[in-house]
Amino acid sequence: MDKAAKIYVAGHTGLVGGAITRGLKKQGYENVVGKTIEELDLTRQQQVEEYFAKEKPEYAILAAAKVGGIHANNTYPAQFIYINLQIQCNIVNAAYLHGVKKLLFLGSSCIYPKHAPQPMKEEYLLTGKLEPTNEPYAIAKIAGIKMCQSYNREYGTTFISVMPTNLYGPGDNYHPTDSHVLPALIRRFHEAKTAGSKSVSVWGTGKPRRELLFNEDLADACIFLMNHYDGNEFVNIGTGEDHTIAEYAGLVKDVVGFPGTIEYDTSKPDGTPQKLLDCSKLHGLGWKHKTTLKDGIARAYEDFLARFGG
Ligand code: GDP
Repeated sequence: MDKAAKIYVAGHTGLVGGAITRGLKKQGYENVVGKTIEELDLTRQQQVEEYFAKEKPEYAILAAAKVGGIHANNTYPAQFIYINLQIQCNIVNAAYLHGVKKLLFLGSSCIYPKHAPQPMKEEYLLTGKLEPTNEPYAIAKIAGIKMCQSYNREYGTTFISVMPTNLYGPGDNYHPTDSHVLPALIRRFHEAKTAGSKSVSVWGTGKPRRELLFNEDLADACIFLMNHYDGNEFVNIGTGEDHTIAEYAGLVKDVVGFPGTIEYDTSKPDGTPQKLLDCSKLHGLGWKHKTTLKDGIARAYEDFLARFGG
């Protein structure tokens, strides 16, 4: 991408889109554009088409989505399937109609079957049943991949897709019940420390394994792939390492400085037992993550304190 090219980031205020926007600007891209949900409702086809006709972006990064943790996915399945399908249908088609040179669609590692062999390779897509807690979200994201591939096949577009692993970092959602595990733990350990509580409750058994990637590393990978990848097959983006929820809880406890104990609430779901991406394709293309877990969690906690600490 030329440094002066107009790049539209859909979802530029979110965890992913925000990091991509900051990353692009840091790398010298001068013409990065975005609209808030109040300015442009991406679920409305007409609004999206009018926006593309007027703005004429040369590149598009689709980081807008309705996202949430295990509880949110379980509670709002209709919103997760409806909003995500609408957004991606509108943007992918508008990008085609208005001649966008290249589009990057962001999916999620929950597209893989619940019992897929670990680590999960790109070719395991659609080889088994999905995890029921986030099936509507996963189905929407699988449709997004298939849409990009179908447009490439029928119309000769260059629409690439990436599947990031679980994410965290500055700009995260720290909602007490609807957020993902890492921000949820940061908030809970911080509140317990502030309140002088003796223990903190962590959902599930603590045994599921998850791979976590810092959002700024994901942004860096997306910019790298916009410049170096044109393939029709999607690419996993992760670290290639996973840990148990109990290990993450221990790390957050240390970073926050909570002196008490951890209790496991097994009335809450564990979700899928392990979610680790095989990142050999991405590594083969020449990209690797940089941020260590300890540094990433410390940066995320700083961000939490700056936004909600006072
Ligand atoms: P998932 O990877 O789609 O299951 O998304 P999450 O980030 O919501 O959850 C990951 C794992 O962390 C699950 O095994 C949860 O049971 C566990 N977990 C432990 N405490 C929490 C919490 O406070 N919030 C969330 N969302 N998950 C938690």
